[in-house]
Amino acid sequence: MYIDIHRHSSDSGDADVVLRNVFHNEHGRVLSENYCSVGLHPWHINRASLVRDLGLVGKMALQSNVLAIGETGLDKAVDIDIETQREAFRAQAEIAKMANKPLIIHCVKAYDELLSLRKNSRHKQPWIFHWFNAAPQTAFDLIAKGCYLSFGITLFKEEGKAFKSFGQIPLDRVFFETDDVGLSIKEVYEKAAFLRNITMDKLMGQIKLNFKNCFGKSL
Ligand SMILES: [Zn+2]
Repeated sequence: MYIDIHRHSSDSGDADVVLRNVFHNEHGRVLSENYCSVGLHPWHINRASLVRDLGLVGKMALQSNVLAIGETGLDKAVDIDIETQREAFRAQAEIAKMANKPLIIHCVKAYDELLSLRKNSRHKQPWIFHWFNAAPQTAFDLIAKGCYLSFGITLFKEEGKAFKSFGQIPLDRVFFETDDVGLSIKEVYEKAAFLRNITMDKLMGQIKLNFKNCFGKSL
């Protein structure tokens, strides 16, 4: 069974299970998905509609097919006011806490800040860093604080930080994703199994178990 935990487009590629990441203004899609996550993406933040947009996320958060909140996060490489991003992130972390669901995080140049937010928060719900792309020490610190890390195209970039981290972290804290980059989830699993020198069966079993532990759903 191939599980893709971060994909926006409506087709599923070769995944058996997709956690569709739906944006705050896509209420219709939330109704039609088996499993989804809903959030206000940092790129879509607009000061003028912030309260209303967060309200939409809060409204959908309790639906039973909404397994997580997000993607939300901090992106210090885009031209969107960082204070407003922080406000939107904190609000969605609170929604996740209230709904008792994990948070899916988009993080660009903000690992230290999100790690310290996690340390200072009393959140017990897992935070999942999608497209994780940081050095092994950051990976270890996040995992120690109850976070999961999701990998996709980064497993094919041998010079990258994510590639180095993936070789060293415990597999019970890992997920895989395609994130609409034209990659198949099967290729990601195959690459991961090769890099960690384990069988596909074992890897699939582990990710299925991670899904259950993180989202509370047996597949
Ligand atoms: Zn995304």
